[in-house]
Amino acid sequence: MKKQFAVIGLGRFGGSICESLSKQGMEVLAIDTNEDKVNKFATIATHAVVADSTDETTLRSLGIRNFDHVIVAIGDNIQSSILTTLMLVEQGVKHITVKAQNDYHEKVLNKIGAHKVVHPERDMGIRIAHNIVSKNVLDYLELSDEYSIVELMAGEAVHGRTLIELDIRAKYGCNIMAIKRGDEINVSPVADESIIRGDILIVIGADSDINRMEQVLFDDD
Ligand code: ADP
Repeated sequence: MKKQFAVIGLGRFGGSICESLSKQGMEVLAIDTNEDKVNKFATIATHAVVADSTDETTLRSLGIRNFDHVIVAIGDNIQSSILTTLMLVEQGVKHITVKAQNDYHEKVLNKIGAHKVVHPERDMGIRIAHNIVSKNVLDYLELSDEYSIVELMAGEAVHGRTLIELDIRAKYGCNIMAIKRGDEINVSPVADESIIRGDILIVIGADSDINRMEQVLFDDD
């Protein structure tokens, strides 16, 4: 059976989640207090309704607890976001993902039982900052305070060299998990794999180790 999702709040974030889930063939109920927003998503989502998610009776009548996953994407109105999340928890929704506006909001959401709290603006800011500092860092995913996965563009310094020659694991303590070349992706690169300019290396490691390696091998400026 198809998974059923409900997205509450159809701003830029909630709207793009709704669109992407629908494109992936999921059943999506789109909810917003704003009629224009709801009309916009009427043809994208499976169902779209004008409703105030802070109203407990409304949530019950929508059968919200039967959804597999509810995403709360209410933007600036932190109070509504918290109240909605609380009611979803109380009604026993199995998976609740909430967008937080700031660290205090995140703290409260975690306390009241949100299963996942996301911070899209902050996370995107971090990713873009890494890309601005080093143009070879194409993407960045923080795993913890210390560890990350980064996508690095291979330049002149590594062109034509094999993984064994570069000896990245021993010298820098990082691991190359995969190499993307055009549309191809090699998820288990072998030691004598040669890197060519323009390859994208997906590297996992401690931030300090990745930085060290990046400065020596990927700083072609
Ligand atoms: P973004 O920063 O992702 O664009 P916005 O603040 O613009 O977020 O959008 C949040 C959406 O949430 C708005 O469309 C707003 O109408 C909707 N919204 C706010 N409060 C409620 C509520 N109580 N119930 C349903 N939708 C709500």
